Amino acid sequence: MMPGTASSRKSPLLISESIRREMLAHAQGSKNCEVCGILAGRANTAIEIYKARNTDPSAVSYELDSRQQLTIMKDISAKTLEVLAVYHSHPSGRACPSEKDRAVAALQRELAGWDIAHVIIGLAGPEPEIKAYRLDEENSFAEIPLA
Ligand SMILES: [Zn+2]
Repeated sequence: MMPGTASSRKSPLLISESIRREMLAHAQGSKNCEVCGILAGRANTAIEIYKARNTDPSAVSYELDSRQQLTIMKDISAKTLEVLAVYHSHPSGRACPSEKDRAVAALQRELAGWDIAHVIIGLAGPEPEIKAYRLDEENSFAEIPLA
């Protein structure tokens, strides 16, 4: 199945318990700034997590460090994996994408050809929540199941 086909777009993203824990710990370790990173794997199953630097550190935005992103991409390709998702946290918000998140995702798709999932860790509620989204053809976010 090619990435970006209608069927893969609706497929659940599988994240193992250990990667989920690591991602959550990364997010919970930063109370004032969003954290971000990349999940890589095969066939919609995440098997590697790459924590990245947020070069636009604030409580409401993130930008992957572009130099670090190149190193990560090299490693992913050396392991013959593919980029499945970018994750980031909302330290004082829910796991819902902002308009800026949508714009960034649309740009990543346009410039990097990344038709990937966007995982958001919301830390505002009593329990942290993790949700995943994909852009549809109209560049709107649609939630996808996490398994
Ligand atoms: Zn966001």
